[in-house]
Amino acid sequence: ELSIRVRDLSLWYGDTQALKSLNIDLYQKNVTALIGPSGCGKSTFLRCLNRMNDLIPGVRIEGLVEMDGRDVNARKMDEVALRRRVGMVFQKPNPFPKSIYENIAYAPRMHDLVGRKAEQDELVERALRDAGLWEEVKDKLHQPGTSLSGGQQQRLCIARAIAVQPDVILMDEPTSALDPISTATIEDLMDKLKKQFTIVTVTHNMQQAARVADYTAFFHLGEIIEYNDTKTMFSTP
Ligand code: ADP
Ligand code: ADP
Repeated sequence: ELSIRVRDLSLWYGDTQALKSLNIDLYQKNVTALIGPSGCGKSTFLRCLNRMNDLIPGVRIEGLVEMDGRDVNARKMDEVALRRRVGMVFQKPNPFPKSIYENIAYAPRMHDLVGRKAEQDELVERALRDAGLWEEVKDKLHQPGTSLSGGQQQRLCIARAIAVQPDVILMDEPTSALDPISTATIEDLMDKLKKQFTIVTVTHNMQQAARVADYTAFFHLGEIIEYNDTKTMFSTP
C-alpha cells in the first residue's frame, strides 16, 4: 500500500537547483534505500519528507509530497502532527543529554500519548525491546544516553524515533559512523522494524542497499534515474 507520493518535487538552495522534478511512490512496511553519489540530493529529498528543509534559509520548494493522502506542505498540516508521524534517525547518533529513560519518554509525553507513570514505563520498555536494546540497558535506565557505545546510542535513537509510533522512519546514513558489528545489528533491526513501519534510508553503500532494501531509488544530480525493487536493480543479466 502507498505511504508517500511525490509529484514534480523540485527544490532550490538560492539559485542552485538540488532536486529536479522528482516523482516517486513509496510503499508501506518496506525498506526503501536512496543511493547515489555524494551531493546528488538524497538528504535533501529525505528532509522534504519531514519538512526539515523549512528550517534552512533561502530554500524554495515546488511540487507535492503526500503522506497517507495528505499534503505534507499544506499550511493546515501542523508541524507537531508531522513530527509524530515521521521519525528521523541521523548519521551521527544524537541522544538528548538526558537519561536513557528520558530519551524515550520525552516525545510520547509531549504528544500526550502516555498518562500514568506505569504507562510511561511500559512504553519505554517496549520501545527499547523493539530496538533490541532492553537487555543491555534495563539496569541503567537513569544513566545518560551518551554513556552508551556508538552502536547502542544509535539503537537508542531508533527507540526514541519509534516510541511515538510513527508511520514512517527516515534514516540518513544510519550506520556510516558505526563499526561492522553495530552496522549488522542495525541492518537486522531495520528488517524487523519494517513489519511495523515504512522505512526510508539513505546509504552510499550498495551492499547495504542490496541487503536491507525492498526497493532502491538511484539518485544522480538531483534526479531519480532508476527506481525498482532491489533484486531487479542489482541482478546482473
Ligand atoms: P547527498 O545527500 O546526496 O549527499 P545533499 O542533499 O546533501 O546530497 O546535497 C545536494 C546538493 O545540494 C549539493 O550540491 C549540496 O552542496 C547542496 N546543498 C545541500 N544542503 C545545502 C544547504 N543547506 N545550502 C546550500 N546547498 C546545499
Ligand atoms: P483529522 O482527519 O481530524 O485531521 P487526523 O488524526 O487524521 O484527524 O489528523 C490529526 C492531525 O494530524 C491534523 O492536524 C492533521 O492535519 C495532521 N496529519 C494527518 N495526517 C498527517 C500526515 N501524514 N503528516 C502530518 N500531519 C498529519
